[in-house]
Amino acid sequence: MQIERSRTDILILGTGGAGLFAALHAKQTAPEVEVTLAVKGLVGKCGCTRMVQGGYNVAVAPEDSVERHFMDTIVGGKWLPRQDLAWKLCETAIERIRELENEIGCFFDRNPDGTLHQKAFAGQSFDRTVHKGDLTGIEIMNRLMEQVRALDVRALEEHRAIELVPARDGSGLAGVLMIDMRTGGYRFVQAKAVLLATGAGPSMYLYHTPSGDKTCDGLAMALRLGLPLRDMEMVQFHPTGLLGGPDTRMTGTVLEEGLRGAGGYLLNGDGERFMAAHDPRAERATRDIVSRAIHAEMRAGRTTPMGGVWLQMSHLGPEKVAKAFPGMVKRCADCGFDLAGGKVEVVPTAHYMMGGVEFEIDCSTAIPGLFAAGEDCGGVHGANRLGGNGVANSTVFGGIAGEAMAGFVGREGAWRDPDEAVIEAGLARAERPFGLKPGDLHGLRERLSHIMWDDIGVVRDGAGIARGLERVGEIADELAETGLALTESGGIDRRFNLTWHDWLNIESLIAVSQVIGRAAEAREDSRGAHFREDFPHVGALETTAYTRVRQIGGKLSLEMVPVTFDLVRPGESLIDGEAGAPPAP
Ligand SMILES: Cc1cc2nc3c(=O)[nH]c(=O)nc-3n(C[C@H](O)[C@H](O)[C@H](O)COP(=O)(O)OP(=O)(O)OC[C@H]3O[C@@H](n4cnc5c(N)ncnc54)[C@H](O)[C@@H]3O)c2cc1C
Repeated sequence: MQIERSRTDILILGTGGAGLFAALHAKQTAPEVEVTLAVKGLVGKCGCTRMVQGGYNVAVAPEDSVERHFMDTIVGGKWLPRQDLAWKLCETAIERIRELENEIGCFFDRNPDGTLHQKAFAGQSFDRTVHKGDLTGIEIMNRLMEQVRALDVRALEEHRAIELVPARDGSGLAGVLMIDMRTGGYRFVQAKAVLLATGAGPSMYLYHTPSGDKTCDGLAMALRLGLPLRDMEMVQFHPTGLLGGPDTRMTGTVLEEGLRGAGGYLLNGDGERFMAAHDPRAERATRDIVSRAIHAEMRAGRTTPMGGVWLQMSHLGPEKVAKAFPGMVKRCADCGFDLAGGKVEVVPTAHYMMGGVEFEIDCSTAIPGLFAAGEDCGGVHGANRLGGNGVANSTVFGGIAGEAMAGFVGREGAWRDPDEAVIEAGLARAERPFGLKPGDLHGLRERLSHIMWDDIGVVRDGAGIARGLERVGEIADELAETGLALTESGGIDRRFNLTWHDWLNIESLIAVSQVIGRAAEAREDSRGAHFREDFPHVGALETTAYTRVRQIGGKLSLEMVPVTFDLVRPGESLIDGEAGAPPAP
């Protein structure tokens, strides 16, 4: 099989907020450095940053502070976040939002006095979410893309990374093997520094929000390379996914948190508000609590016609709602619901993975030359990501990664000779389905999504997780025997062969589902997004440990690693006189 080979200084995988910010900052730091973007879709048009609705958390108001934002992040994350990373996020978000406005040209909503408008998001002690209406991501990505496109940056669009290839001498990363999806050919790009910014994405669940191109490829590649993944049991379910029935791809897409923040009600199938029974903050409780409460109503059978609960905004005034949330109103209308004046069926939907590759504050990883940023990374959010901290995370750490990679290339960057055996193995793995009898790939993915939803979903227990892991293992065995349809003439057509890519998608999703299951099995407590009915208590915060999973010799190994409380200990606060997250001022 022929492989086209090329070289670049910096190779960035993924063009969401993390990837594009990395490109921008790498070129700003060292304009002479050659940067190549490789992306499964089109530059800036795919991934989840573009889908950001609600907004961007940043402590820019005079009454707010980095300390307060940090405390909300730590307490929301149930003391699992790596504190230096969380601090970096909150501190650098201020710099980044100024950059987005003043250098990149984003227009965010403003108050009549000219200050940035900041809205309420759940689980935060201060209204700090900067936004552009309810379609903030489009504003950020369009402006960011203009900036990056104006630079001398090479783009490999519709290129799917399939293997991170180490150096033959074990000294670091040599480059990345990918498929040019347009031709179906293989390409190996040798790079002095590589950024993993493929955005993870829990799209192995029945209801999910991420874009269709996100299937945990980056995490699966990191696993095969032997990198540790942390906090993988922490899958965030957004409470209000649109429930439009099985016939629309809109089912599962998110209706933003600002709706509840603005005073929206959740009603069960009997028309009763139920959140106050679960949390004094009612609908403004954190995502994990609201998702479990909805799940409980669903289990009790108090559901809407399609099996979820109602989101009601009409009591706030239809005109006001239509003005504040035009994107959401349109999205609901597309599925036959009147958000402003009526009620919409919603269901919890898998939204975000707090877990991911372990990385350092400069975005380096355990493999020299490999950097990681954005949703592919674990450690910033711990057990729960606050709404608005996701896009802050990808833009903050994407920028840092760009600077770090440019510095690394200047200081110690060198093209390393690739381990050809790994390239051969990656190629054989990708070619495998062509040699097998065609089968029902769609059915396999459906089954995987139900297993993950039922057994390792919003509410878990030991027996369910064990059953889920066994069933995911069966799916893995079946996939290994399932091939792709041949063309009418009995040949193989690799050009834009989306069935081939479905096969590879499912392979990545299975690998990462197994890690989620292993980590969920090991965590015998209930923290944030991870809730075990057989271990319903949070457990001792002082001895908090996180899960770290690695693949060694084709098998997963897990350890529990103690969290170090570098800045603040459980029960303490960085805000004078307060313990834990401070109440609203
Ligand atoms: C509907 C929705 C609404 C959201 N709203 C908010 C919000 O209001 N506030 C907030 O803070 N966060 C929000 N988030 C979360 C936020 O979007 C993400 O946390 C963040 O944008 C992720 O950025 P990223 O750069 O890591 O990944 P992404 O922006 O998802 O980009 C990933 C990139 O990797 C590419 N890729 C994937 N696999 C491969 C491969 N194998 N090879 C090459 N390229 C690959 C993709 O094509 C894409 O370009 C929302 C998410 C969704 C889905």
